[in-house]
Amino acid sequence: ALLRLQSSARDCLGRRLASTAAAPPGVWTDSWRDGIVGTVGKTPLIRLQKASEVTGCNILAKAEYANCGGSVKDRAALFLIKDAEKKGLLKPGGTVVEGTAGNTGIGLAHICNAKGYKCVIYMPNTQSKEKIDMLRLLGAEVRPVPAVPFDNPENYNHQARRFAEATPNSVWTNQFDNTANRLAHYHTTGPEIWMQTNGKVDAFTCGTGTGGTLSGTGLFLKEKNPKIKVVLADPPGSVLFSWFKKDKLERTGDSSITEGIGQGRVTENLKGSKLDDAVHVPDSASVEWTYRLLHEEGIFVGASTGLNVAAAVEVAKSLPKGSTVVTILCDSGLRYQARLFNKEWLESKALYNAIPMAYRGSAL
Ligand code: PMP
Repeated sequence: ALLRLQSSARDCLGRRLASTAAAPPGVWTDSWRDGIVGTVGKTPLIRLQKASEVTGCNILAKAEYANCGGSVKDRAALFLIKDAEKKGLLKPGGTVVEGTAGNTGIGLAHICNAKGYKCVIYMPNTQSKEKIDMLRLLGAEVRPVPAVPFDNPENYNHQARRFAEATPNSVWTNQFDNTANRLAHYHTTGPEIWMQTNGKVDAFTCGTGTGGTLSGTGLFLKEKNPKIKVVLADPPGSVLFSWFKKDKLERTGDSSITEGIGQGRVTENLKGSKLDDAVHVPDSASVEWTYRLLHEEGIFVGASTGLNVAAAVEVAKSLPKGSTVVTILCDSGLRYQARLFNKEWLESKALYNAIPMAYRGSAL
């Protein structure tokens, strides 16, 4: 039988779906996506059952590992490339250059392949082998460099900028200070959360690398309802907890095993963000929640997600029962298998005992 086209059907960003056939309520009605770039965003929002149970609140988490490149950074990567195209900085056959802890690079490399660009990635040599392997698999040129602070001219970002300046028809997408990054979250992550919760959100929390996710999502949600609490979650070694609490850029703690988050300065993407509070999350809590997500929810993610959920639980404790706290599931645990899910590596960081006793046997 022919199905009647339902012209009012819309996707979660409110865009009309041209070719969606009429479907009973509750049935999946998304139409085809336009290439891999069309699959970025529109991720599921998952109610974490056990975390919600223990807090008496709804802990909801955006499954960003479901993006094409497997992380929250695919949204930023797409917006950064579109921004460079719009500004005329990236022409057919051009090269995208970026400094990244890995995930932005993986997102960029996917989109570069789909759009016919070359991709050159500068990366601190402290990041996981899985991320480097993935970049190489995608055909990106990976240049691991010593992990030195931003004020050192050899920092990975400065090296990326210099390389792009010296290379014809190339662009440094500059994820830290190009606010096209946070616009990705302002225009997609924030609206998706708003629509998926029917506007019933009391708080949003996540960690910060560039600040794009926290700032862009937070700004959108605040515009919709200024009462929504936006909370920065910060790992050891980062200065942002003290930036919020004391207006000083002091590191809290030493260093962290959480890749991709923690920051030593206030990036352009973070400037002007509207924050209500900050929580400091020790690595032991990030590891605990990463393993709890795996065993209690069946969700396999990296340590920045463990940190986000630990923060969401902390925020929920400060809110009335029944409140809704939203956070981000940043990327998959597959990216950290040799570290976070390896007994010896965790022991070397004195974090093996942070895994709840019942789940310790699962570290390989
Ligand atoms: N988690 C992971 C694993 C990441 O790679 C990143 C980005 N570096 C983030 C969280 C933080 O995202 P943002 O850059 O938007 O602050």
